[in-house]
Amino acid sequence: MLKQSQIDLCGRVDFTREVPLLGRDEAFSFACAGCGDCCRGREDIVLSGFDLWRIAVRLRLPMRTVARAFCKASIGQVSRLPVLRLAPVREEGNNCPFLTEDHCAIHEAEPLVCALYPLAQEITREGEVGYFLQPTRCGGQVFEAKVGDYLARYDVPAREATDVRWAQTCLALEDRVEVLEALFEPVFLRRMQQKLWQALYYQYEITQPFLPQLEKNLVWLEEELEKLSALQRRRNARFDETIEKIER
Ligand code: SF4
Ligand code: SF4
Repeated sequence: MLKQSQIDLCGRVDFTREVPLLGRDEAFSFACAGCGDCCRGREDIVLSGFDLWRIAVRLRLPMRTVARAFCKASIGQVSRLPVLRLAPVREEGNNCPFLTEDHCAIHEAEPLVCALYPLAQEITREGEVGYFLQPTRCGGQVFEAKVGDYLARYDVPAREATDVRWAQTCLALEDRVEVLEALFEPVFLRRMQQKLWQALYYQYEITQPFLPQLEKNLVWLEEELEKLSALQRRRNARFDETIEKIER
């Protein structure tokens, strides 16, 4: 399980990798007793926009409705970007909201984090994808698998291009938002965050493929951020003029 400080990067998990990456032809082994604890008490199931879109398609609900019903939204302390996590249900022993009788109710739309476990994914700024074995405290029957086969069982390779685009988008937005946070007053900061939520998580149709909508949203987001920056600059200029008049 991950530490709170590792959950930050907009639908990604900020692992500090201490083990080598595995080749796709390489075999790994892990032990599992089938206890289901990896679906209980978890605060670290972070969803990308694509994860949320897949769940929304599975449930045939708008993405915002799924987020409100099953997730916890926050702003990353380091990334300053939206972070959406599955919210455990306290009344049901802190289980994942999709855990029903020891089964995942959205199995075919499982978030990437769940589909990969016990592997984890690393994506560089250059878009290189690597996988490594997370440290677990699990015991039980020992399984062995080739990385490529393990990933293929939940179609992870088929979604890789979208996950890469998402990761690179988040990394670029992190830099953009850092600059804008230094410029914006609280009212514009709030508006910027609303636009980020829309572009990354909510402004999507579940009847349309995710990736083209993300691309369209990123163009829209850039225009909106430019408008906010222009408004803030105009306000700053008016403020400077007023101060000048007072000082004359
Ligand atoms: S991976 Fe670990 S926590 Fe999950 S079911 Fe297996 S033993 Fe339990
Ligand atoms: S989404 Fe499914 S696999 Fe993932 S934690 Fe919830 S119940 Fe478990």
